[in-house]
Amino acid sequence: MDARSPQRSQQDSGVKASRRGADHIAPDCAGQNFYAIDRGLRDLLPLYLSADVFSRLAPHFGRLGQLAGGRLDELARIAERHPPVLNPRDRFGRDEDWIDYHSSYREMERIAFGDLQFHAMSHRGGTLGMDRPLPAVAKYALQYLFVQAEFGLMCPISVTDTSIHLIRKFASRELKEYLLPKMLSGDPAVQWKGTQFMTERAGGSDVGMIETMAKFENGAWRLYGDKWFCSHADADVALLLARPEGAPLGTKGLALFAMPRRLEDGSRNAYRIVRLKDKLGTRSMASGEILLEGAFAWLVGKADQGLKQMMEQVNLSRLSHGVRAASMMRRCVNEAMVVARSRQAFGRTIIDYPLLRRQLMKITLPTEQALSMFLFAASAMDRANAGDADAESMLRILTPLLKFRACRDNIPVATGAMEVRGGNGYIEEWVNARLVRDAHLGVLWEGTSNINALDIISRAVGKSRAHLPLAAVLARLLDEASAIPSPFRDGLRLTLDRAMHLAERVAAEGCLEDQARKAASALYHVTSAVLMTWEASRPGTDARRALYARLVLEHRLGAQDPLALEEPASGREVVELLLSERDVSLAEVTELLN
Ligand SMILES: Cc1cc2nc3c(=O)[nH]c(=O)nc-3n(C[C@H](O)[C@H](O)[C@H](O)COP(=O)(O)OP(=O)(O)OC[C@H]3O[C@@H](n4cnc5c(N)ncnc54)[C@H](O)[C@@H]3O)c2cc1C
Repeated sequence: MDARSPQRSQQDSGVKASRRGADHIAPDCAGQNFYAIDRGLRDLLPLYLSADVFSRLAPHFGRLGQLAGGRLDELARIAERHPPVLNPRDRFGRDEDWIDYHSSYREMERIAFGDLQFHAMSHRGGTLGMDRPLPAVAKYALQYLFVQAEFGLMCPISVTDTSIHLIRKFASRELKEYLLPKMLSGDPAVQWKGTQFMTERAGGSDVGMIETMAKFENGAWRLYGDKWFCSHADADVALLLARPEGAPLGTKGLALFAMPRRLEDGSRNAYRIVRLKDKLGTRSMASGEILLEGAFAWLVGKADQGLKQMMEQVNLSRLSHGVRAASMMRRCVNEAMVVARSRQAFGRTIIDYPLLRRQLMKITLPTEQALSMFLFAASAMDRANAGDADAESMLRILTPLLKFRACRDNIPVATGAMEVRGGNGYIEEWVNARLVRDAHLGVLWEGTSNINALDIISRAVGKSRAHLPLAAVLARLLDEASAIPSPFRDGLRLTLDRAMHLAERVAAEGCLEDQARKAASALYHVTSAVLMTWEASRPGTDARRALYARLVLEHRLGAQDPLALEEPASGREVVELLLSERDVSLAEVTELLN
């Protein structure tokens, strides 16, 4: 007879049952260090950063990796469930609008703006123990780690960073002196965060349609209009485009303004957040609609250069969006791998099934491509900042390439990772549902896929000829990758020439505009394949990156006959090697490239 009380034994069996239940449910990545488990990132950072900077920042990558898999992830989960709330008036009926955020969001802000100081790290020394600004590669690698936990807050972080860039570059000395000490501060009591309001009802892609008017009244600029999409709606200073009275229609008549939320005497500026958007994703972050009722603003730079100046911010944001997509894809891959290696079905762990392994490849390949692409783009930015004109041209084309393709790829990757988790992936307790929602924003803000593809082909290729220095650098990297068999590199070289030729033809013949996305995708894929080949050839890097290059050539750039069986032999070996957790030698890899 069981000496224990019936109640106790019932409890015990309940515990056993629930444990049994937990055994069956595949875990997630909670508690993992997102830097430690990211072989690709750990291998590539020493290639794209100087040894000195890498060794000084490595502990911070590790620390943020730990945070992203731990506390930040918990906070992000809670913040999403408690979205910001707009209070349009105070209790006296005054239009003192303000937004309430959940404490979890505030804690994430303290980590991002106070501890890490993302917004300031590429503008001044003194962040993360560095005596000088961080290189772009380091900043974007840190963004990549952060966003694996929290996507929403990266908008305010990035747009503050990019607003500082515009103010530093274009504002008058007086305006810089007024704004920069606040914007660059790491002290929340002093700090001013930035944002960018461009889109109006009449025009998002077509910014020339902007209707906001700027009137010069009593010695100051006043703004009148209605901004339709305003993320980080309650930022302390917004950069926006408006048309000074009498300026021409279209983009030529747009000027850039900086609009403070509070005036010097502390009173509210004459604009109101009328409504917050009820969004599919980025739910932790407030995007609103803003009514400008004669708001005071400073003119930034030259009145007829507004859009040109603003495009610097747009391009910086586009790069960050590409990084964010790369990051969310990495989270998807990590989640999918954990599930694949633990979930049982039909008596086997699901990673053993060939069809599932193929699905894993489909989500891993674009993730690895985006990783190489963003690190390469960021290193071009570092070289451009040091005065390298060719790197500046390359950055011109790499930025929209990354934004266009990585953001687009993020959507099927997020859906694919959800599917690997099965039904649980659709349930809000797991991160997949959020990843699916957030993935869709990348193809909308800072230019839709069409707008970015047109920018790549018509402007970066057609007007700026930016593909030429890119092609030259990629050819050089192929030469340097001499450890990789020549036939494989020759095939890549040929594909590179063809992709460049395709882009030139589409750019040259206006009637081919409908093929801009195809041509842009080809440029992205071939660039990533060359990069991964070169990376694989570097000592100390996972040689398997060359196998990803092979998959890109075959599946993204090669002709596929949907009615033909694929040659399975070497394809299976490639997948086998890519999914194996052991170290793989360059010799093993090169055998599969021949
Ligand atoms: C959550 C969220 C937050 C946002 N935050 C901000 C913000 O903080 N600040 C800000 O300024 N904006 C913001 N935006 C706005 C965003 O940048 C715009 O929605 C985007 O640029 C698209 O503009 P639109 O919505 O007017 O679409 P449209 O320009 O009307 O586009 C509709 C469709 O037409 C296509 N299209 C347009 N022109 C062409 C063409 N020439 N050739 C082929 N196809 C074309 C587009 O690709 C798209 O598919 C935000 C948007 C969202 C969803």
